Amino acid sequence: MYAFGYGNEKCYDSLEIGTNATSTLFSISSWNNITDLLYCFACHSSQNLFGCIGLKQKKYCILNKQYTKEKYEQIVGQIVGQMVARKEWGEFFPTAMSCFGYNESMAMDFYPMTKAEVSKKGWSWHDMVEKKPDATRMIPGARLPDRTADIPDDVLHWAIQCEATGRLFKLIPQELKFYRDQKLPIPRLHPDERHRRRMAMRNPRRVCDRACAKCGAKIQTTYSHERLEIVVCEECYLKEVY
Ligand SMILES: [Zn+2]
Repeated sequence: MYAFGYGNEKCYDSLEIGTNATSTLFSISSWNNITDLLYCFACHSSQNLFGCIGLKQKKYCILNKQYTKEKYEQIVGQIVGQMVARKEWGEFFPTAMSCFGYNESMAMDFYPMTKAEVSKKGWSWHDMVEKKPDATRMIPGARLPDRTADIPDDVLHWAIQCEATGRLFKLIPQELKFYRDQKLPIPRLHPDERHRRRMAMRNPRRVCDRACAKCGAKIQTTYSHERLEIVVCEECYLKEVY
């Protein structure tokens, strides 16, 4: 479960499910006294739904169509049986059904893949066409003055060229106001490059085996062997800080 609310019980493999949700599986963004929802999205205050989207205060619906309790149970039983046979039951919505390309999702930040690798898995990839910003002039990032006070408001009409990637980007008025209020320089890097560098400061989402630098105990850590930081076990760490 990811991002769940209070009072949930017997929920599994779902995200944003909450506030008194019971027996809700493989569903997204559904809440308020929901019970027995399977493969649903944005359904609220409802019970016994299968593959529904955007329903409120409904019962016994499959793909948003109303059934009687008996018919519902019969059809859902059949569907689940077929899904079990196809080894689909028990899994979250398949990645291939995502409305977004893998490369424009956060998965790309944590588990980067090439277009060929993504296509091989049958997942989508969105080729992004770099649009030239509508600007009156272009200024290389390095030529921006350090003090925002020295920059005319006209900068909002300029395309700034990223120092690292050469990509062009523009500022929005709220952003310029923020930099001025906080007395910060205008960024010289494209927003995507700034994001990439922030992400690069985080440890990867995988652990490796290492020995505690103090007592030699076996530990698992996201700091790989090449990293220069001193990594210790929990016991040694606690001795050190208290
Ligand atoms: Zn230790």
